[in-house]
Amino acid sequence: DVESQKERVVTEEEWLQKWEMGNIGFHKEQGHPLLQKYLDVLLNGRSGLRIFFPLCGKAVEMKWLADMGHSVVGVELSEQAVKEFFSEHSLPYCEEQVPEISGGKMFQSTSGNISLYCCSIYDLSSSIVGKFDGVWDRGALVAVNPRDRQCYASLMINLVEKNSSYLLVTVSYDPNKHKGPPFYVPESEIKSLFG
Ligand code: SAH
Repeated sequence: DVESQKERVVTEEEWLQKWEMGNIGFHKEQGHPLLQKYLDVLLNGRSGLRIFFPLCGKAVEMKWLADMGHSVVGVELSEQAVKEFFSEHSLPYCEEQVPEISGGKMFQSTSGNISLYCCSIYDLSSSIVGKFDGVWDRGALVAVNPRDRQCYASLMINLVEKNSSYLLVTVSYDPNKHKGPPFYVPESEIKSLFG
């Protein structure tokens, strides 16, 4: 029964507050074991990929994949999160406006291989960020408000190349016992969202 979560909305302001308050239990200092386990599926024998991190927070896996020679693009509402990512990895960066997005900024590592957009993911399009060979979706689909899932999935489908790999991490639990996020997204819904 996922009805209990259907109407729940977490506002952008609430996410920014979580970052301000340090209420970020979702952030893990250690790389995610499932990315290590399924890295071969993501890469599929390819090198120098463009990999997208939707709702990226300050996920340490971005540094990890960049160090392997891939080019990483993330999007995150919180400027604090983006700045913490660069400072915690001692990465120098530069900051620029994104003319297509009102108030949107892009933070890029000086080496050029990590670009983090600070804006809502719904402001992005392939004409701004291009298309990706791989996606690491952890704490992203499950963090999106249930009413926005369709929009999120359509956007993601638009942002990937034909021969891309999409790793999705979900959580399984009784949605009557926890209000989310992370939200419970049943497998049947994932199938109908992504086809
Ligand atoms: N994927 C990250 C963070 C998960 S928590 C990880 O694995 O650690 C979800 C993150 O999405 C939060 O940092 C929140 O600030 C951000 N967020 C929420 N709504 C967003 C939106 N519409 N666009 C971009 N980022 C968003």
